[in-house]
Amino acid sequence: MTDSWTPTACILCECNCGLDVELGGPDARHLVRLRGDKRHPGSRGYACEKAHRLDHYQHGKDRLTSPLRRRPDGTFEAIDWDTAIAEVAARLTAVRDTHGGDTIFYYGGGGQGNHLPGAYATATRKVLGSRYRSSALAQEKTGEFWVSDRVMGTATRADFEHCDVALFLGKNPWHSHSIPRARVTLKAIAADPARTLIVVDPRKTETAELADIHLAVRPGTDLFLMAALLGLLVAPANSARLDHAFLDAHADPGELALALDLLAEIDIDACIARTGLDPALVHRTADVLANAKALASFEDLGVQMNRDSTLVSYLHRLLVCLTGSFGKPGTHFAATTLVDLGNGASSRLSPVAQARIVGGLVPCNVIADEILNDHPARYRAMIVEAANPAHSLADSKRTRLALAALDTLVVIDTAMSETAKLAHYVLPASSQFEKAEATFFNFDFPENVFHLRRRLLDPLPGTLPEAEIHARLCEAMGAITEADYAPLRAAASQSRAAYLGALMSRVMPNPRLAGLAPVLLYRTLPLPDDRKEGAVVLGLVLKAALEHGPSLRRAGHAPDARSPLDLASALFDTILDSPSGTVFAVDTWDEVRRRIKTPDKRLHLYLPDLADALRLALATPEAHDADFPFVLSAGERRSFTANTIIRDPEWRKKDPAGALRIHPDDAAPLGLTSGDRVRLTTRRDSVVVPVEVSDAMQRGHLSLPNGLGLGYDDAVTGIAPNELTDTADRDPFVGTPWHKRVPARLTAVA
Ligand code: SF4
Repeated sequence: MTDSWTPTACILCECNCGLDVELGGPDARHLVRLRGDKRHPGSRGYACEKAHRLDHYQHGKDRLTSPLRRRPDGTFEAIDWDTAIAEVAARLTAVRDTHGGDTIFYYGGGGQGNHLPGAYATATRKVLGSRYRSSALAQEKTGEFWVSDRVMGTATRADFEHCDVALFLGKNPWHSHSIPRARVTLKAIAADPARTLIVVDPRKTETAELADIHLAVRPGTDLFLMAALLGLLVAPANSARLDHAFLDAHADPGELALALDLLAEIDIDACIARTGLDPALVHRTADVLANAKALASFEDLGVQMNRDSTLVSYLHRLLVCLTGSFGKPGTHFAATTLVDLGNGASSRLSPVAQARIVGGLVPCNVIADEILNDHPARYRAMIVEAANPAHSLADSKRTRLALAALDTLVVIDTAMSETAKLAHYVLPASSQFEKAEATFFNFDFPENVFHLRRRLLDPLPGTLPEAEIHARLCEAMGAITEADYAPLRAAASQSRAAYLGALMSRVMPNPRLAGLAPVLLYRTLPLPDDRKEGAVVLGLVLKAALEHGPSLRRAGHAPDARSPLDLASALFDTILDSPSGTVFAVDTWDEVRRRIKTPDKRLHLYLPDLADALRLALATPEAHDADFPFVLSAGERRSFTANTIIRDPEWRKKDPAGALRIHPDDAAPLGLTSGDRVRLTTRRDSVVVPVEVSDAMQRGHLSLPNGLGLGYDDAVTGIAPNELTDTADRDPFVGTPWHKRVPARLTAVA
């Protein structure tokens, strides 16, 4: 290793693998070579092909370099930062003072690798009294969060490194990752005859190709497969293999009995028939699950953005619990985290659509409904940060209408996104390599990792890190003054201990200041320039030290520290001094079993509302729509897709236009071969798209990649999937969109 390599991380998926970067080119600002960073304690040198061309992100032609203000004619004019901050602060406070802070909606807060903006935005939202928010998580995970919270009181992840049976539901980790070193782990499972890799996916994906059992269900029939598997699991022949010791120790006995009765009612043969699978293969799978010593499982967007998604999550939870796949090596765990992302508690409704808010997130599919009406509580203003809802939310046309109907739309982003084009003000953020950054998607076990990436490059002139933007907004709104900073600065000049003491005694007990803590930390905590935006992490570490002291101590952070403050201080110093990341918590499996956090610490396996919905769903005949005979999966992860993080189409080495994948038997009647174009029509739009004929697809199933259809350099490449989707197609419980089940038809074009 030479001095020319500098550690950072990939920003293209939630794994945030550690990278070494070599800078070069004009002003040494280009990321000319990248490779996996072997010192990163989580990824240990791993990186997939997506990471190697990150310079297309750093040097996108649509990087913003000046705040922009919309003119009455719809064009933008550049303004200076002082003017922008003053006007944005004035407009947002005017909305607050006229209509109430609840009418200011916040969307985003971070992409795959930049979660610190969302942490700083909490201060701005506090000043504005903004209580409603959402993010991409509400497009995917809220059903799982809601069910997990009700059943177990916690979200879980699984230990695929040590399982003997790995089950992926609607997931292709080869491309979507989500587990550390995904391809290494998948290959290891596939190569070991003592282990079984099970993939549930209509497509023959790269992961399915490796699988011992590929359950290629008919699209949208995952619920029937799960019902059949659970019906088989509780059948008399297998029921002795349920983990009765685990269930006796942890489950509510009355609810366990009801859940077993519910599963015993299932018409297994009818369910299997709906899936289109060979019954023998389903029976074999049930045997494998029943005999698993350590089952690790993962449900993802293939089922979570599909019909019956929350019911599938419920049955998945039952599978985990009935097989005792929690709290022992190779099974599920609840990790120590710095930020609790998996809180599925739901006691609030959105103000207009009265949609269930899970984990604090308003369902994305009702956001337009919350705006496009005359209700006095409708959202009047929106702050969008590091997100692109005009592209990523269902029914882009209606989303654009909603965004255009707002009194004020402020977008904070690095590039001129589809959402920024609709904004009243656009505030240009520094890139993820031009500031200190981090992700809170840290779910490793038993050793969990945190990586505060250092600033690699100076901010592009004209841009500001989000921490600075939020600090300036809070100051411009008159919420923070020098008098608030002074005691913390004085304490900081003495010692870290004095600073933490001032934080605990002056800030945290004061509701006004506690809500502004991120900005107070950012302005007063002395840090090196290349880690300045990491200030907010001290607050998170302090909270973790108070809540998870033993786990942090096991990681070797000041094991002799007498107080949580000493522990927090030591861990924060380690984080600052670890350019490739550090292990911040070490857990034990015994401890995991104590992390069932329902109010009575029991597993609640029978959820009456979901049980009723399950009975109804299983009894409802398949509906066929002759107008739309195909099922379109709108947004498939492929080799070179990464949401909308990289806008430059040159980044993609493969499939630059984002072809529609189609089975050969569906292509033939239309006379299609790969590269031909076809008209694709849904209830919301009709587009012409190139096709790729692929036997990875099933008959009747189509797929388009995610992240295409972005405007770049005066051209749009590919189809934006949400031009084709409909907000009405959503889960009835938590509102997650059915992007993977869009009714569609094809017609030939000349
Ligand atoms: S895309 Fe994900 S798995 Fe691939 S290098 Fe980046 S962070 Fe790692």
